Amino acid sequence: MKTRVFTLLASSYFLLSCANPSIRPLQSQGNPNLRPGIQSQSVPQGIETAVNPERMAAYLATFTGIRPLAPNTLIPERGTVQGRELTRQFLTQTLTELGYKVERHEYRRNAANIMVRLMADTPSDEYILVGAHMDSVRNAGADDNASGSTAVLEAATVLRELKGRKVNLIFAWFDEEELGLVGSRHLARELRTQGLKINSVHAIDMMGFDGDGDHALELARPDGVLWDYYKMVNQTHKLNLPLDRTNTGRSDHVSFHDEGYDSLCISEEFTNGDSTPHYHRRSDTYETVSQSFLVAGTQLIVATVGDLSLKVPAPVNIQMVPHDRFPSREREFHDSYDNLPHD
Ligand SMILES: [Zn+2]
Repeated sequence: MKTRVFTLLASSYFLLSCANPSIRPLQSQGNPNLRPGIQSQSVPQGIETAVNPERMAAYLATFTGIRPLAPNTLIPERGTVQGRELTRQFLTQTLTELGYKVERHEYRRNAANIMVRLMADTPSDEYILVGAHMDSVRNAGADDNASGSTAVLEAATVLRELKGRKVNLIFAWFDEEELGLVGSRHLARELRTQGLKINSVHAIDMMGFDGDGDHALELARPDGVLWDYYKMVNQTHKLNLPLDRTNTGRSDHVSFHDEGYDSLCISEEFTNGDSTPHYHRRSDTYETVSQSFLVAGTQLIVATVGDLSLKVPAPVNIQMVPHDRFPSREREFHDSYDNLPHD
């Protein structure tokens, strides 16, 4: 399989080098959609090169209360009713500016998922869903899970530029994961009830900590061809990240798996000893996130979802191996957002 070649139109974002985007100070306090220029040449590389570290840093900073979403308006936490509504306000505002029609999936009072659809260039009834939980345990929740929320927002930003898509995309931000996958369970059930044909679901949870700097990702419970597909794209797009397979459940991928959809979760090394020491603590803040790791993981997800949307074939001769052959580590749920442990 050769690396695919894409042509990005003149409206494309200026492509920044992602070789070493170490944590950098924020450049701007203005519009959250940083569009640092126009590139008119065609780009003989994959769509993942459009992933923009500075824009992602701005998204992450807004989710974590560092950067205002409007004058004098910060998101200090994403666990209270007010904090989660501010998060939806930021998502709605940003996605609307990108040209999306935002769908609010209010499954009960004061609880709602946000989603948008990016329709294929050729009409299709098939979908791929990319999602992350937007709530936190009433902390800044930078790693858990502003990192995933940022990755999905960046994917929604750049995959618009990919031409020739044959499958529709849904980008979703789930509410109340920390209370027991509540938002994603409601959304998965709703989409199943609608009879929506979803080929695969890519959940991103805690993809921001990389203590040893190896950029290794864990892929949890990859159904069907997903494990082999990620490994293939990792090579064909020359990203070459260390990938580990695990059997970790209790994140939003399980909600969709349980409704019969092929799914997986992408995260830092949650099982393999390189996960945030700030887990569910007030110290899970913006500065603790490895931005180069978050960018690298986002590039792999954008490249993979991009190829899936173009219907690049999966590798042949895949051997399906049961999930329980791989290590797992459970995550905690909170009975209510009031149970945040105090440091
Ligand atoms: Zn959590």
